[in-house]
Amino acid sequence: MDSLIEMMLWSWASDGSQLQLQTADRGALSRAQVESETRLLANHLMDVGIGPGDRVLLLADPSFAYLRICIATLRVGAVAVLVNPAYTERELRHAVVVSRPTAFYCASEPVSELLEMLGSVGVNLGGFDGPGSALPSTLRPMFRIASGSVSTSDHRIDNALPDDAAVVLFTSGTTGLPKGALLSHRNLGTNIAALAEAWQWGDHDRLLLSLPVFHMHGFGIGVCGSLALGAFFSLLPSFDPIRIAGSIEDEQFSAFFGVPTMYQRLADSGRCDSLSKLRLVVSGSAPMSEHLHRELKEATGQYVLERYGMTETAMITSNPLNGERIPGTVGGALPSVEVELDVETGEIKVKGPSLFQGYLGDATATSAAFDGEGWFRSGDAGIWQDQDHLRISGRLKDLIITGGFNVFPGEVEAVLRDFSGVSEAAVVGAESDAWGEEVVAFVKGIRGDETAILDHLRRNLVNYKVPKRLIFVDSIPRNALGKVLYQQLRESLKG
Ligand code: AMP
Repeated sequence: MDSLIEMMLWSWASDGSQLQLQTADRGALSRAQVESETRLLANHLMDVGIGPGDRVLLLADPSFAYLRICIATLRVGAVAVLVNPAYTERELRHAVVVSRPTAFYCASEPVSELLEMLGSVGVNLGGFDGPGSALPSTLRPMFRIASGSVSTSDHRIDNALPDDAAVVLFTSGTTGLPKGALLSHRNLGTNIAALAEAWQWGDHDRLLLSLPVFHMHGFGIGVCGSLALGAFFSLLPSFDPIRIAGSIEDEQFSAFFGVPTMYQRLADSGRCDSLSKLRLVVSGSAPMSEHLHRELKEATGQYVLERYGMTETAMITSNPLNGERIPGTVGGALPSVEVELDVETGEIKVKGPSLFQGYLGDATATSAAFDGEGWFRSGDAGIWQDQDHLRISGRLKDLIITGGFNVFPGEVEAVLRDFSGVSEAAVVGAESDAWGEEVVAFVKGIRGDETAILDHLRRNLVNYKVPKRLIFVDSIPRNALGKVLYQQLRESLKG
């Protein structure tokens, strides 16, 4: 069984009384409650005219209201288009235009700009949970969906086939506009099956989840994985290190999935020792510094399990659950995934059943994402440290070419972060008459230590990799998953 919907149905059928999830807006619910509430809502969605293959745009907040409508959409056989509620108007307009939804749902009354965008692509069906008293009467007929809607109809639901589209997730878009990646029930299901095997993740687990629910990490793995495996998860509305530590200490969790910035904040709060109570502590979405890996190990007794993946591929590699975890590496290929490095560029290429179906409305980008032999080109460069441990050296498009030499920002950043006193670093290329590009480092940490930091860099890096400039900043710009916004940093150097 390798389809998301089939896996969810199997888990609901096997023991309805088991607790499935907990959210701030609805408390704890059993598998049977989740099944029945999403079935009644799926029937309502079909009553109002949503059918298999339609796209439902969801402005995804971490709540049961959102999960319920998302699962109901999947049960209809429709496609859930998950959008970051913090998108700017430009990004949201792009998401609406490429996804061409039939209907939309958002947590609170939609602002007029959103309604105008949806209207421009002909959407006349939507919903939100709120009083809606300010809505003009002409718009009211549009709002026929609420997350708690129920219907006594008995439509044919749960019929999505493994290769039917399930979700659209937008890539992080740290360099350009986010691209909408279409993933099928098989894409998500096979990835979850691979993680279940690699991490021994199953219905005995209890996951504490505080990630955004519109990305592969929080949604494709955290939410869908728990639902498909019948494993309990508690979804928090936002990340707060003190609350995370308290929950781990007071409740019987076994797992936590996070991004490096969350672990850094846990370490800074002095409460990361709480992680030692968990059997599965996973990090991904951005590189975790070796320094932070070691700090967490000291506090918890074991290295965080770092894995590597992308929206388009789902999870690609993972450090082993039981074998040696090497900080600074992302482990070996997961079951059913093949990984190859391009002989010339070192680019990581991927094959496997979890590879996405394509970018919405962008056939050119879709075909450019694959090489002539069907390998997906990740855009990341890697080196095998040994056959079970891949080391990511950087993004090819962030590669800096200085005086004809190639410099991957990731390598310089790792050396910078190893200097105690530097908590974060981001390295970019700045236009330079002398060098073509010159290496510039943005550093968050102790100001005034410039000479010591440069000495440290010179001891650890060949001369052309040593930044020509260090710029001390109070914070490094990052997106919701903690990925550095390199384009923004490059732009700031032009001004
Ligand atoms: P996204 O599709 O938004 O999830 O971004 C995927 C990108 O995140 C990858 O191509 C990598 O550049 C980066 N990434 C994910 N996991 C890791 C990791 N463990 N270490 C370094 N980079 C990572």
